[in-house]
Formats: sequence, structure tokens, C-alpha cells
Amino acid sequence: MNIAIDGPAGAGKSTIAKRLAKELGFVYVDTGAMYRAMALYVLEQEINASEEEEISAAVEEIDISIRYQDGEQQVFLNGENVNGKIRREEVGNMASAVSVYPKVRRKLTALQQKLAADTDVIMDGRDIGTCVLPGAEVKIYLTASTLARAKRRYDELQAKGESCDLEAIRLDIEERDERDMNRAASPLRQAEDAFLLDSSDKTIEEVVAIIREMAAAKGSFS
Ligand code: C5P
Repeated sequence: MNIAIDGPAGAGKSTIAKRLAKELGFVYVDTGAMYRAMALYVLEQEINASEEEEISAAVEEIDISIRYQDGEQQVFLNGENVNGKIRREEVGNMASAVSVYPKVRRKLTALQQKLAADTDVIMDGRDIGTCVLPGAEVKIYLTASTLARAKRRYDELQAKGESCDLEAIRLDIEERDERDMNRAASPLRQAEDAFLLDSSDKTIEEVVAIIREMAAAKGSFS
């Protein structure tokens, strides 16, 4: 059984998916981390985000793979574990910029489909229900208001002791939404058979419970 969770940045996808994966005994696949690893390479090589040809050529050279340590997904870029390097806002913004290129998407989509082929996964991203796993048994489109999402990011960064500005985060989120929703290659949108879930006024537990019930209704566990 596969569960697909799509939605814009900061909607709570990874927190929810991680909890559910633990409860249901599924493998959690964070596809954004793969786009972030690709973006890290582009940043490290100082390639300009607008250089489609150069980035498409780089796709051929780089190796991105996933391993699990203590149940946590680790992303490897050319053999190096880059989990500690990909969470910066700069990397997220570059991921949004490079993910518009079809060659980048093709490579990472193939990797994601391979991961889901022989195990029960909960996969989150932007195009899981529409492109990567169109046959997923449960599909969720998880969203929240821009302000609620910006506040969550702000609180996360504050908790880590990083200085940040709520308005700047809100603008970043809007810009990222705009690009993710309007790109030509597999844009972020709700799949026709996905359930729309707005988490603005819901706790993590409430959202987890709703998806757990949906999975139970599909009969994969009791
Ligand atoms: O989810 P996260 O913020 O880590 O994703 C970073 C960026 O990677 C997104 O803004 C989006 O542009 C891109 N992405 C994508 N397709 C996915 C997952 C992420 O285009 N399945």
C-alpha cells in the first residue's frame, strides 16, 4: 500500500508523514530531500539556477541515493551523506528553482518509483499523487494558509536559535508556491482523487488521525 501526501511548503507534510510511517510501519520517503540534494550540488558547483543546459548535464554526472539509519532517511550525494546540509532556506529555494527542469524531475521520479515498488511507503512531495505514484491507495493534498505556514517555519527556525523574519519567510513561501504551482513540468496541484486537508486550525494529532482512518478504510491494517 502506498500513501501519497502532496502540498505546499510548510503545510506539515513531513511531520505528519513521519508520525504515520511510524504508527503504520511504513517507510517514509521525503522526496523534497532529493531535490534539495540536487540543489546543493548546483550551489556547490556555483551553477546559476537559470542554466538549464548545465543543470541538465549535471544530472547525468551525479548520483543521488537514499539509505535508512535508525528509521531516518539519509540522502547521499555522490556517496556523501548530505542530510546535515540540505535544510537551509537557501537550499530549499534552489530546490524549487532546479525542480522546474524535466531532466531533474525524470531522474528523481524514477528513483522514487523504485523505492515504492517493493515496500509500503508514505511519500511526500509536490507531484506524488499526480505523477510519481498515480495508483497510490490513499492520496492527501495537505495545505494551510500562507500565514499559518510562515508562522510554523518561523517557530521552527526560532527553536533552532536561527535569526529570522516572519515577513521574509512569508514572501519566500509565496514565491515558492507560485513557482511550484505554475511550472510546466508536473506542477503542484491536487490530484483529482486526492482528499483536500487544510491543517491551518488542526493539530498534528488531528491530521494524523484523519489519514490513519482513511488508510484503515482501505483495509491495510486494523
Ligand atoms: O518539500 P521541500 O521543501 O523539502 O522541497 C523543496 C522543493 O523541492 C520544493 O519547493 C519543490 O520545488 C521541490 N519538490 C518538487 N517535487 C517534489 C518534492 C519537492 O518539485 N516531489
